[in-house]
Amino acid sequence: MGKVVILSTGGTIAMDQTPSSPHPIPSLKGRDFQQQLASLCPSDIEISAEDIVNIPSAQMSLETIKEISQKVQSHSANPDLDGIVVTHGTDTMEESAYFVHLCYQASKPVVFTGAMRSADETGYEGLRNLVSSLRVAASPEARDMGVLIVMNEQVHSAEEVRKFHTQRVDAFQSPPYGPLGEIAFDQLYIKRRISRPVQKLEATYVTPVPLVALTADFEVTLLEAIQKMRPRGVIIEALGGGRVPPKVIPVLADFVESRVPVVITTRCGIGPVVDEYGYQGAHRDLKKLGCYFAHYLSGPRARIKLMLVLGNGFNSDAQLHTFFQD
Ligand code: ASP
Repeated sequence: MGKVVILSTGGTIAMDQTPSSPHPIPSLKGRDFQQQLASLCPSDIEISAEDIVNIPSAQMSLETIKEISQKVQSHSANPDLDGIVVTHGTDTMEESAYFVHLCYQASKPVVFTGAMRSADETGYEGLRNLVSSLRVAASPEARDMGVLIVMNEQVHSAEEVRKFHTQRVDAFQSPPYGPLGEIAFDQLYIKRRISRPVQKLEATYVTPVPLVALTADFEVTLLEAIQKMRPRGVIIEALGGGRVPPKVIPVLADFVESRVPVVITTRCGIGPVVDEYGYQGAHRDLKKLGCYFAHYLSGPRARIKLMLVLGNGFNSDAQLHTFFQD
């Protein structure tokens, strides 16, 4: 029999109307899931439950994400457990799951899940997502893949998945390669594997590491205001394959000169940041400045990575290059 613990943190999967609130608020706890799943869950899986917090994920703090990461790590050492499921709001699930993924140092499956519809809505899919997640968490095939996100019967990697729609149940997508696998009739099918990160990080991070999305005719004063915050690092969601308006270059040069690492990702959200254009503000200018590049990482994910990398004391140019390769 597989044994899985559900660590609940809130989100829409836990939301319902209450006598005091006609609009859904976080109310369901781990033991509610456990009770509701008793008749639905495959009989070969035994569930336990623990509550960490019960909040919408817009209220998730880095300290709470760190706590989730530490709880996941400590449950992974329990020889009686086969896997771990974390219930979480979908709005910032990408960041929490990626944080835990970068810090997770064990083989057992870890699955984040949530819901797009609250328990009071027709078509609430929370229990269905939980049943699928329990199946994945109890499955030996899902070991050594780091942190997974299971939504809408699909299995995604915390390295790739993004929330792309505000309402639909298929909000979570992993372009360009698609999900790692799926669950059909309670059977797990893994079609593609992603290994756990080679370099493990402790759940220690630095702040502030602001994230800035560039635009046409970008207001450079925003970056100048960020300089006054004394950031520990800066993430720039650049244009296309890694281009910036030329007026941004002097501010980025100031960051680099004052040893504030600048990591370039793309506001496209997907794809490498590399090109061979020769005009001012193109990728080659950013490289000459000493910026780092985060290929295929969304801005929020690049931010979590830089916070953890710096928090673990990896701040030399050579070390940063191993985490953010050209
Ligand atoms: N609508 C969000 C969700 O799907 C709310 C949250 O992220 O907590 O969970």
